[in-house]
Amino acid sequence: MSNKPGLTVLAGPTAVGKGTVSTYIRDTYPEVWLSVSATTRAPRPGEIDGVHYYFKSKEEFESLVAAGEFLEWAVVHGQNTYGTLKSTVNEAIAEGRSVLLEIDLQGARQVKQAVPDAQFVFLAPPSWEELVRRLVGRGTESAEEQQRRLETGKVELAAEPEFDHTVINDDVRRAADELVSLMGLTPHPRQTQTPSAR
Ligand code: 5GP
Repeated sequence: MSNKPGLTVLAGPTAVGKGTVSTYIRDTYPEVWLSVSATTRAPRPGEIDGVHYYFKSKEEFESLVAAGEFLEWAVVHGQNTYGTLKSTVNEAIAEGRSVLLEIDLQGARQVKQAVPDAQFVFLAPPSWEELVRRLVGRGTESAEEQQRRLETGKVELAAEPEFDHTVINDDVRRAADELVSLMGLTPHPRQTQTPSAR
């Protein structure tokens, strides 16, 4: 698969806000074709099959893996399996769409192997302190779990040099606009209201 004209991969550490940035892009930039991943995770309230994810049973997911249907797939947070279907991405690229994949680091590395000329964008926190705040912020995890998340965060941040560009998620709209510019699209003019964080 080659990168004609635009496959962009957005990855970054856990809790940096990839989901919020991609939700903002889905709502604001219909010109971006945001890939819909398959997952074995159960839908959250409000999530629609085929819009947010293709929700699959473990067995369905495994047969797609066996059939070689995935561009990349990974077990995320040691829990659920997520993957990008080759067919959907290929179709969008063939139609000349600007394609965005919001995936985890393991997935980004697999795409780098499969499509080396794709564009790889790292979403970074404004600072380590801010990432710590976002990682442990809810205060609902045990000290042990918090420590585990911090260790993971450190390892994930160290992946930044593997990427072509870094976008700092200091403000969701600003970060989304920068990402859209990197995709060769024109950011929309600013409105006065800031979107609420999700
Ligand atoms: P959530 O369950 O909160 O929607 O997503 C959890 C994590 O899964 C996020 O870090 C997101 O980037 C990652 N993810 C979502 N879709 C994919 C995918 O298709 N492939 C990979 N490798 N990771 C994904």
